[in-house]
Amino acid sequence: MGQEKPTILVTGGAGYIGSHAVLALQKAGYGVIVLDNLVYGHADIAEVLKVELVLGDTNDRPLLDELFASRNIAAVIHFAAYAYVGESVSDPAKYYRNNVVGTLTLLEAMVAANVKKFVFSSTCATYGVPIAVPIAEDHPQSPINPYGATKLMVERILADFDEAHEFKSVCFRYFNAAGADPDGLLGEDHAPETHLIPLVLQTALGIRESIAVFGTDYSTPDGTCIRDYIHVTDLATAHVLGLEYLLQGNSSNIFNLGNGSGFSVKEVIEAARTVTERNITVVERDRRPGDPPALVGSSEKAQRVLGWRSQYADIHQILIHAWNWHQKRHGQ
Ligand code: UDP
Repeated sequence: MGQEKPTILVTGGAGYIGSHAVLALQKAGYGVIVLDNLVYGHADIAEVLKVELVLGDTNDRPLLDELFASRNIAAVIHFAAYAYVGESVSDPAKYYRNNVVGTLTLLEAMVAANVKKFVFSSTCATYGVPIAVPIAEDHPQSPINPYGATKLMVERILADFDEAHEFKSVCFRYFNAAGADPDGLLGEDHAPETHLIPLVLQTALGIRESIAVFGTDYSTPDGTCIRDYIHVTDLATAHVLGLEYLLQGNSSNIFNLGNGSGFSVKEVIEAARTVTERNITVVERDRRPGDPPALVGSSEKAQRVLGWRSQYADIHQILIHAWNWHQKRHGQ
């Protein structure tokens, strides 16, 4: 028998990306404890993944102290955050309190408990409107909404904690997470739903009448926004690699996670028509505030340093997994 792998605390593990990471950690043999306040997460993951779910908030310092004191936690993977760009503009305090203050509370509890390995969900939204694509990690960071600003602040806090406390972190700046567990166990289920792919698939299912295309006058070949869609299972795999990189004693680092190729909104809808073989009605709308025309990331560094490879880079494959999940979810 090999040595047992350590226990990892996953905050936000009841959410979309977090739950896929929990599954990847379990498959890799780690013990997992999920901390989630269930504001946006789903309680049923405890049952689906047979994982321990602690109901609580990263702002709850006594709870965190109790958790670190009573359990032998080797590292934290931190997904818990609010992530609606529009809401962050209308209610910034909610975002700063949860994403920044909550994370700071967690980090202080970790230092006090001498747990100093941390994998953090950052975002390409920290780059703002790119001056060059594909975006590499050294691209200037200039977020254009409070959501991106909160994530950038945590990146800064992590750099300062490393300096002060030898606190080691891996930050992943995700591009557009999409798709679902290939085995159909988990998927994307936001309420409210604002993301393109789930909305397109709900339109294909007849749950929505049409999909709105936000802006057709961008400086892109077909006038619609270009994004780099990355399969959620590929993101999850990267988190296991990032964790292992830290457990091996490596220094703090930052990695983009994308596929390095972009698809326009119109191309995504066309691919969804091919995959679903359903009618998808499109209505053209004005631009959505805060949307950069094109976001495409280079993940060359994650490949080189972590040995990460995207397993499901094809947009059709991403849509097939998402479609399977949505059909199951909505009983079709
Ligand atoms: N989008 C759209 N219609 C929708 C939702 C999104 O045209 O109903 C566009 C959005 O403007 C962006 C792209 O689809 O260019 C991806 O948006 P999403 O909200 O999925 O992710 P984001 O890029 O905001 O993280």
